[in-house]
Amino acid sequence: MNKPVPQELVTSGKLTIPSPDVLGFDPTALRRKYDAERDRRLRPEGAAQYQDIDGELHHYNDDPHITERIERAPTTATIEVAILGGGFGGMLMAARLERAGIRDFRIIERAGDFGGTWYWNRYPGAQCDVESYIYLPLLDETGYMPSLKYSFQPEIFAHAQRVGHHFDLYSRSFFETQVRELRWDDLDARWIVTTDRGDVLRARHVVISSGSLNRPKLPGLPGLRNFKGHTFHTSRWDYDYTGGSPAGDLDKLRDKRVAIIGTGATGIQAIPHLGAAAGHLYVFQRTPSSVDERRNRPTDPAWYKSLQPGWQLERNDNFTKLLVGVRVEEDLVNDGWTELFKSLGELQDGTGASNLSDADMKQLGEIVDFRHDNRVRARCDETVNDPKTAEALKHWYRPWCKRPCFNDEYLPTFNRPNVTLVDTGGKGVDRLTEKGVVVDGVEYEIDCLIFATGFEVSRATYTHQAELEIIGRNGVTLGEYWANGMRTYHGLMSHGFPNLHHMGFTQTGYTPNFTYQLDKQAQHLAALFTDTKARGLRVLEPTKQAEEDYLKLVMAPNGMTEYLANCTPGYYNAEGNAKANHEGFLQGHYPEGGLRFYEMLAEWRAKGDYAGLIVR
Ligand code: NDP
Repeated sequence: MNKPVPQELVTSGKLTIPSPDVLGFDPTALRRKYDAERDRRLRPEGAAQYQDIDGELHHYNDDPHITERIERAPTTATIEVAILGGGFGGMLMAARLERAGIRDFRIIERAGDFGGTWYWNRYPGAQCDVESYIYLPLLDETGYMPSLKYSFQPEIFAHAQRVGHHFDLYSRSFFETQVRELRWDDLDARWIVTTDRGDVLRARHVVISSGSLNRPKLPGLPGLRNFKGHTFHTSRWDYDYTGGSPAGDLDKLRDKRVAIIGTGATGIQAIPHLGAAAGHLYVFQRTPSSVDERRNRPTDPAWYKSLQPGWQLERNDNFTKLLVGVRVEEDLVNDGWTELFKSLGELQDGTGASNLSDADMKQLGEIVDFRHDNRVRARCDETVNDPKTAEALKHWYRPWCKRPCFNDEYLPTFNRPNVTLVDTGGKGVDRLTEKGVVVDGVEYEIDCLIFATGFEVSRATYTHQAELEIIGRNGVTLGEYWANGMRTYHGLMSHGFPNLHHMGFTQTGYTPNFTYQLDKQAQHLAALFTDTKARGLRVLEPTKQAEEDYLKLVMAPNGMTEYLANCTPGYYNAEGNAKANHEGFLQGHYPEGGLRFYEMLAEWRAKGDYAGLIVR
């Protein structure tokens, strides 16, 4: 059922879609199936279906990795830059400042160490599905060779610590410390940063890199508080209860009935380890993930040694170019991410399809996606013994509707006699009881319930996610200013909030390699701070007009808007709420893509006129 898309689909710049027999599948029937699967998952309450973990559920957010609380006296200091967040974003910011000669900074981090995502997410099997050679930052500088093409969490966390030592960041960081308030002091042109440890820092600039997937969320299930068994969220894994380590071997689960809710990128990685260890495992599925081959392999030391200085940036640029459709001589990363984009690019370049109308390009893109989806779905039939289970594990949405997954152990887990897939047909779990989970009137009694249900993602609750209050010029809070969505200039700054810089993805240029983006942003900000210091400037703030114009640019509907509007619900598309399209994680991005966005910033800097900013 899955013939390659023939090049002859496009001849002399004209697209002709052959009959389903020739093509090997029926695009119209597939489109109908995708629409029907989406429709039965749409919920009127959208993102409000999720339960916040405040109040009596706050323990889901506690740090299980701190063994002893750090005791220290409060600090009062006047500094150049305060960096909120000690994940790769904050660390890259610090490293780039250090390199630029701005050494007067502090990192403030809620966790007990550096690492961000990789500090918190220590669930068994946690792995980065972007290649380690481009994902792990500062490899050139630290001289570290990742052991595998795709690194697991312990290696990534250790690398964060390595970067911390290499750039002497530990001595300039406060751990187990939460910023409670940022208040702009207009007279002094500084932010007053106060923390839950009584610190008061007066900072010329504040950079927030607090992460976009940091606050666990739970499904708002009836009975959530009634469950009497053991329970935790995957990003706060409880190894005291399960035994084992991120490498697996969860030996304390041998006699336990375990349930996991959620089959996204996290669930896919943890489930094989739970299946291998638990007395019995119930996997509660609402929407299946698309799970392609992992194809991991050890690093070849001779190859790694042969790489010339600057190789990592070159490799990253090569990856990013491919993903935005720029033709490259060689696909250096050559994996599941680049394959998908290459197939569309090859069709365009090899056949004159670049002359196609937008409507034809859309149709061609759909055929390429369907072909890919068919191949991934066929893996379920090839791997899973029980045909009903295999069918239930097939995804029915296009590749960028949800994070594509790559894993070789996930599908075979469902051949284990101790593993049951409870497919909820797109409805989700009905409710919890004292003893377990109810679906379609059947109660599944369990000892332990693990939530692999993702993270709070909503523009309107940005300060809630970052867990702090930000009071700008004229006493307006950022929460108030962004009540109807994020408003920025270049994705980095907002009117009324001078010298406050946000690192992240929204309203910037998207590419799936987050550390690439964070490094580009860190380099941009370090260059900006160096220049303003040299010119004796104290205040940078976008004009209202510049912000308005930029918003129009990033919020204008683009190809991705329509693509996501037709997707199955998820956090990429604000749970399928088309009216709130700008609220989705992948919406509101620089229309020309990740590569052009950072080129645009560099060109903007090179002009040196601070266009769009009020400078004092
Ligand atoms: P997601 O938000 O992607 O997944 C949450 C899961 O919970 C979904 O399967 C969702 O189903 C399910 N769910 C929610 N409510 C219910 C319910 N009531 N009943 C049943 N199921 C429910 O979170 P993840 O933690 O999996 O991933 C978050 C992100 O983290 C990824 O998208 C990725 O960006 C990143 N990540 C990256 C990795 C990497 O390799 N680099 C690895 C892991 C995570 P439904 O789909 O129907 O909403």
